[in-house]
Amino acid sequence: MTYQGVLTKMQTEIGNTIQYYLVFEDSFLNMNQLLNKEIEFNFVGYECLNCHKKKKIFRQGFCYDCFYSSPAVGDWIMRPELSTAHLGIADRDLEYEQKVQLQPHVVYLAVASEIKVGVTRKTQVPTRWIDQGASQAIAIVEVPNRYLAGITEVALKSHYTDKTNWRKMLQQTTQVFDLVQEKAKLENLIPEEVREYFFSEKNDLYELNYPVLNYPTKVASLNLDKTPSFQGKLVGIKGQYLIFENGSVFNIRSSEGYVVTINV
Ligand SMILES: [Zn+2]
Repeated sequence: MTYQGVLTKMQTEIGNTIQYYLVFEDSFLNMNQLLNKEIEFNFVGYECLNCHKKKKIFRQGFCYDCFYSSPAVGDWIMRPELSTAHLGIADRDLEYEQKVQLQPHVVYLAVASEIKVGVTRKTQVPTRWIDQGASQAIAIVEVPNRYLAGITEVALKSHYTDKTNWRKMLQQTTQVFDLVQEKAKLENLIPEEVREYFFSEKNDLYELNYPVLNYPTKVASLNLDKTPSFQGKLVGIKGQYLIFENGSVFNIRSSEGYVVTINV
């Protein structure tokens, strides 16, 4: 079978084992069913996820012009503490920013390589954690807007990383941590104005299991710019990565906006 379409991050469904779907305009692929099978990817072209023109992808699935003009990729996305919609101040488009920023956000601890701190919209729990390949995660606070989540993350960054080491995540050299105990230790580190939102009693610990048959001992990252055509036997899916038998890994998320054909 051949599928063709624009890559966007895989849709996921939590369960005993997480289910992954590649969704195209008029078809979709349940990736779990392709485990232990050969898959071939071929680069066809580009399609910006914002303007849908066939322009080269610059970052995050967007062409250069869209990346620097769309409100969906303002600086406050990566740095939530820069959010200003709660003050009525626009970055690129106040109406859009109010819609996204002025909604419940969660600050969490997650373990993908080591313990990291992060921010997500509440509606993105547990999707955000699955996308990062976290094996465990726990919410620390739930706040009414992105700004408050951002300043909490900044305060915790001096104690925890905010990055995932993707090599370690894919090799599962992850240690096991006690996130409930870790969370209990950090109440005093949270900014004054956020402390009322701290989950002092609530411990909603998520454990996430990925469809991985074997973890690679050495990983080599594939990308469609350097390798426009590749194939391999799929042995695992974790985060937004496909893991092949020979240790090659392909990050679907960083290939958003690339048009491919997939032979299975
Ligand atoms: Zn565009």
